[in-house]
Amino acid sequence: MKSPRLTIVVPCFNEELVLKETAETLMRLIDRLVEEGKIAEDSCILLVNDGSCDDTWSLIRQLHEKDGRVKGLNLSINTGQQNALMAGLLQAGGRSDVIISIDADLQDDVNSIGEMLDAYHEGADIVYGIRRSRKKDSFFKRTTAQLFYRCMSLLGAKTIYNHADFRLMSRAAVRQLEEYPERNLFLRGIIPQLGCNAAYVYYDRLVRNGGTTKYSLQKMFNFAVEGITSFSIRPLRLIASLGFLFLFCSLVAIGYTLYAWFGGETVAGWASLMISVWFLGSLILIAIGITGEYIGKIYLEVKQRPRYHVTEYLD
Ligand code: UDP
Ligand code: MG
Repeated sequence: MKSPRLTIVVPCFNEELVLKETAETLMRLIDRLVEEGKIAEDSCILLVNDGSCDDTWSLIRQLHEKDGRVKGLNLSINTGQQNALMAGLLQAGGRSDVIISIDADLQDDVNSIGEMLDAYHEGADIVYGIRRSRKKDSFFKRTTAQLFYRCMSLLGAKTIYNHADFRLMSRAAVRQLEEYPERNLFLRGIIPQLGCNAAYVYYDRLVRNGGTTKYSLQKMFNFAVEGITSFSIRPLRLIASLGFLFLFCSLVAIGYTLYAWFGGETVAGWASLMISVWFLGSLILIAIGITGEYIGKIYLEVKQRPRYHVTEYLD
């Protein structure tokens, strides 16, 4: 069987400090994998510049001039890691058999790439890199990230625990991904929906090989909101549930109010005010919840996601 052509896609935002080392490490890895016969000779890396304001793009140009197997894609403004990654995947998808995405700081262990390719050769279309431990991440990063994963699953958005964007995808899987035209990208939620043959490799997350995180607290927060709102309409449903809960509470409150009123312990106007506040409050919440149910439906429709993915048809 012919060895598959691999492209390693790397989103880069202000990564001038690490880019050279990253490209060299990845090219050395590619040379080794070619020697082992796991990938084709014309395998390459694709560095996607996500509108950096430092010298990232000129560095990518230099690296490309030195070695043609380093490809570059320049985005005009900073659109976020997910969009940069998508741009790279779509660019690479047409000319590669297998695509691996990895962060520019090589916090994800490049030595797992060989293992990912083994899983691909055994028939997996998607291989997820799972962080076995995050000891090298800061306490803040570790706890906020894990809180985020738990919140996501509680709110009904399915993601793979401790997996970020270090993964292998076959060309067929990238083709399926092309069917998702949505603007609010949250790849970690979309990819598990593709329903391809999946495999998992486990690794220890390393420290950044230079520079500082490009995910500010603000970006992390936006990303979390993006993930939840792109994949779950459960928050809207919660409003209706809250309305019904309040309706129940209001019945108890109304009972108590009437009891106090008949007992003559109340001032004039108190009972009618209490009953209106509780009862109307719950009705308003229920009404918002019902409206939310329709908005949720509209939201799912406008995304125009594929209804299903066919894996086989026997005619
Ligand atoms: N990144 C990007 N655009 C952004 C932010 C980040 O392309 O707006 C890239 C960044 O260059 C890196 C990857 O996304 O390759 C992950 O970012 P980082 O390592 O800073 O995140 P962390 O590991 O701290 O979560
Ligand atoms: Mg990182």
